[in-house]
Amino acid sequence: MCDDTVLKQGLDELMLDYTDEQLSKLHTYYERMVEVNKVMNLTAITEYEEVCVKHWLDSVSLVKALLPKELNKPLRVIDVGTGAGFPGVPLKIFFPQWKIMLLDSLGKRVKFLEQVTTELGLTDVTCIHGRAEELGRQPDYREKYDLCVSRAVTKMASLTELCLPFVAVGGALIAYKSADSDAEINEAAKAIRLMGGTIENREKFTVPCSDYGRCLAVVRKTASTDRKYPRGGGKPMNAPILGA
Ligand code: SAM
Repeated sequence: MCDDTVLKQGLDELMLDYTDEQLSKLHTYYERMVEVNKVMNLTAITEYEEVCVKHWLDSVSLVKALLPKELNKPLRVIDVGTGAGFPGVPLKIFFPQWKIMLLDSLGKRVKFLEQVTTELGLTDVTCIHGRAEELGRQPDYREKYDLCVSRAVTKMASLTELCLPFVAVGGALIAYKSADSDAEINEAAKAIRLMGGTIENREKFTVPCSDYGRCLAVVRKTASTDRKYPRGGGKPMNAPILGA
């Protein structure tokens, strides 16, 4: 039996309304994740309360960085390097009007996501197996999203090159960074500019019910990304564009 006391407290703190159905989806998601985690590496965190804080509440803390009028739109969202579904799946549970693409380069994780999102009855969710730097060059995915989210994938300069090509002009990349990531974000300034982005906000706060300092780096897409990006041959990761 899942005790939702901490989860409810955190959701209240984030001023996020919830229904019993949403909580029940989180329970099922938790049960499947822990079950599959026994045979495949999905998460290091398996204790329910910790999952509530470090996965659910951290994921939905995105509400700190966007206005309700933006959040409530039927946004086209891509989660790059989603892993076991973070932050994309909790976001989809709380913002069912979003059309969301969950992207990961590890096929086994994508298979898990296909199964669990079907079991949860989530519609308008596509799980895709591939590398961001390859998909971001394809016309079907390039500049097709209002919002790109990404947590714990790579440093900001590399991440910008992987993610901003997906974002339509006017949309945004929101990178989940730790509160002490200012230097990392600063050294990504050139990459952000070259990909057609502008740093709009660094929303810093403590994740509810924890002492974990989070920074949501909001990069607005202000111009189309040059066709030469993202670069091939592993360059976004191995030779990131650094500097001011
Ligand atoms: N975002 C999840 C989270 O916060 O729990 C997972 C983080 S995990 C540390 C990083 C994930 O990014 C892995 O599942 C990995 O397979 C995926 N990944 C790394 N590089 C990628 C790339 N170039 N394209 C797509 N996925 C990638």
